[in-house]
Amino acid sequence: MKNEEIKLYGAALALWGDDIQLLMLAEECAELATAVMHFRRKRKGAYEELVEEIADVSIMVDQCKLFIGTEPIENAREKKLVRLARLIEAETLRKRIEAEEKDKGRRDEKETL
Ligand SMILES: [Mg+2]
Repeated sequence: MKNEEIKLYGAALALWGDDIQLLMLAEECAELATAVMHFRRKRKGAYEELVEEIADVSIMVDQCKLFIGTEPIENAREKKLVRLARLIEAETLRKRIEAEEKDKGRRDEKETL
């Protein structure tokens, strides 16, 4: 996070307080969920709406990090990224085995004909 952003977020927190900013985070998350649904339905202007709402959520997440604590969030993120990497590895292996079994099934079928 840039120093200018930290200053701006600190000013927002000083003005409105943690609790109101948590409500804003929840509100922006709800708006993002709606934008995602609009984007999936290919609604006109949905891409721009999605971009705006991702930016809003990103700003509120960064702002809330100031009072929730960056370090615990980063630690949780690291654990979740490790878990994601393991899931990708396991799913890739499962798909490879599935493709090999399907291929073997096709070859066995040809041999019996
Ligand atoms: Mg918004």
